[in-house]
Amino acid sequence: MARQYSLEKTRDIGIIAHIDAGKTTVSERILYYTGISHKIGEVHEGEAIMDWMVQERERGITITAAATTCFWTQTYSKNFKQEPKEYRINLIDTPGHIDFTAEVQRSLRVLDGAVVVFDGVAGVEPQSETVWRQADGYKVPRLCFINKLDRLGASFESSLASINERLTPNAVPIHLNIGLEDQFEGVIDLIRMKAIRFEGEKGEQIIEGEIPENLKTKAQNMRSHMIEKAAEQDDALLEKYLVNKELTEDEIRMGLRKGCLSYSLVPVLCGAALRNKGVQLVLDAVVDFLPSPLDLTESKPIKGINPRANTEVTRQPQDSEPFTALAFKVAADPFVGTLVYFRVYAGTLKKGSYTYNATKNEQERVGRILRMHANHREDVEQVYTGDIAALVGMKATTTGDTLCDEDKQIILEKPIFPEPVISMKVEPKTKADQEKMSIVLHKLQEEDPTFRVKTDEDTLETIIAGMGELHLDVLVDRMRREFNVAVNVGRPQVAYRETIKKPVEQEGKYIHQSGGRGQYGHVWLKLAPLERGKGFEFVNAIKGGIIPQSYIPAVEKGVKEAMGKGVLAGFPIVDMQVTLYDGSYHEVDSSEAAFKIAGSIALQEGAKKADVVLLEPIMKVEVIVPDRFLGDVTGDLSSKRAKIERMGERINLKVIDSFVPLAEMFGYATKLRSMTEGRGTFTMEFDHYEEVPRHIADLIVSGKKA
Ligand code: GDP
Repeated sequence: MARQYSLEKTRDIGIIAHIDAGKTTVSERILYYTGISHKIGEVHEGEAIMDWMVQERERGITITAAATTCFWTQTYSKNFKQEPKEYRINLIDTPGHIDFTAEVQRSLRVLDGAVVVFDGVAGVEPQSETVWRQADGYKVPRLCFINKLDRLGASFESSLASINERLTPNAVPIHLNIGLEDQFEGVIDLIRMKAIRFEGEKGEQIIEGEIPENLKTKAQNMRSHMIEKAAEQDDALLEKYLVNKELTEDEIRMGLRKGCLSYSLVPVLCGAALRNKGVQLVLDAVVDFLPSPLDLTESKPIKGINPRANTEVTRQPQDSEPFTALAFKVAADPFVGTLVYFRVYAGTLKKGSYTYNATKNEQERVGRILRMHANHREDVEQVYTGDIAALVGMKATTTGDTLCDEDKQIILEKPIFPEPVISMKVEPKTKADQEKMSIVLHKLQEEDPTFRVKTDEDTLETIIAGMGELHLDVLVDRMRREFNVAVNVGRPQVAYRETIKKPVEQEGKYIHQSGGRGQYGHVWLKLAPLERGKGFEFVNAIKGGIIPQSYIPAVEKGVKEAMGKGVLAGFPIVDMQVTLYDGSYHEVDSSEAAFKIAGSIALQEGAKKADVVLLEPIMKVEVIVPDRFLGDVTGDLSSKRAKIERMGERINLKVIDSFVPLAEMFGYATKLRSMTEGRGTFTMEFDHYEEVPRHIADLIVSGKKA
């Protein structure tokens, strides 16, 4: 079977947003208008098609990154002289809640472009800011959709201003709203200078008309600004524009597209998804401005490492290239077992064939390939470059692994996952639960790289760790519902870290030479502090074979193990460089095991002299309260060691942006509710680690504070 959609007509995109901005509603409308889903399930009715999992429905948030395929032809293309072109859009679902960082990261890793949805009342919210920065990191071209213009207090202008101020100075509106709040009628398409209204039960009829008289001048001014921006993206366009002061529709689109793909321009659209206004135009813009897999060759080439030769390799996005794909999500499916979602970067893959997992060094048989649609799955014979689909029956493949040709191996860059900041104890409720618990925890850990399970060495308790209270709650809930394992959980604990402040040099010796074969490992290590967030670096500075090469990985292993349990209070040591620069060995008695122990000893002894301090996770917290509670709430935040960054206004409400240690934030939801008669709301997410003030660190170390 040949490829059905050319690469040029493929879009691999995602919708990203702050929770509650309307991502689910927009996704639902997209699936409806693209003809896949014929019944719109409202989020509040708990029927959303994209929300596969029960908890998501109950909590009204989307957790899993389901990838769905749909098809679209631009609404205005009926004006084209040529045949309208249908595009295939692979929509990768991303969670709005930042506690599900792994989901955001892995989806950003495989997206080519994104639609960022904003609440037209709130404008830019802290999580939109975080996700925006992450998208910058992954070089994802994007569009903005200012949603909810029907809401009381909505404003296109102030939302746009907040995008320009907080996210990018390059936001360029290509729409203008007609009316607002309950008078919101539709939008003006500034490219075509038409008023667009959405009629019919679900807004499926698009009615084009003249621009209302009172908006003509404003639309004209905004159009001029847009054309100027489009022209700036291309020399030929600019020349033409300087002469004529005008460009054709196609030229404007071309300029905007070029700007969007090169990150120098972000088109901004608007609407109200719940009122069925504006979503079709978002799809038009996805096709017009977001990249196809072909567009990425220059800006974001497909690069990886050949694990055999240890050299860098690149691939072109073409079916004729060697097969190269990234597994970006593992999901348990009640019908077919485990699904591995993957994105094909180059080449093709046939059902019934074999592929090679270069990350795990294992061959995998390709049993079935499924393309996921919103409400059904389709068995496909073959997938091509740019496709996103799911494999059934993989044995070894997990999130972040590269699948490729065995003869042409490549390992693509993995998504970056942060370390967990919160942990808690779990224990099975009954004996029967005990047996299943560890199997299920292991399974969940495979699905989610930000979820960790370990056994406390001293107490033998099982500890789970993740990105926030909600993250762990959801996982515990899934254990009960999906896998029927009931557990009791302990109080959430902060995941502290330890680090050193002073460089030291330290010897580590493990030598036993009494009778028979002895043990001989001897090293000198230099420990030095690294910048916050840099993790661990091992430098091998051994010259002239003072320690044979074959023992050096063992030293590193010993060092790493010792770093797992710090010298102050047993928290992992981070942000440290360890240089192995001297030592000695014995022809007969030296072994890997002896060098590993020597490495551990040197690390532990050295750390004790290196001025060890505790680090704690600092959360970015935004609190929104009515004016009259401002004093109480900021006072309370100050007592929580908060650093208040900014105070803003949002229609009769005060917005407080601050950084607060996670340790101070447990139970804040209840506290805020009681302080504000239930009117205050807040969001928080992990931001960075910082040193714990000495007097508090002393309490933690002596076990007087969690
Ligand atoms: P998500 O958390 O970003 O997925 O947001 P949802 O799509 O779940 O929407 C959050 C809430 O906002 C739901 O109650 C929606 O019904 C509502 N909502 C979504 N879009 C609109 C809109 O255009 N106008 C109004 N008034 N409400 C909306």
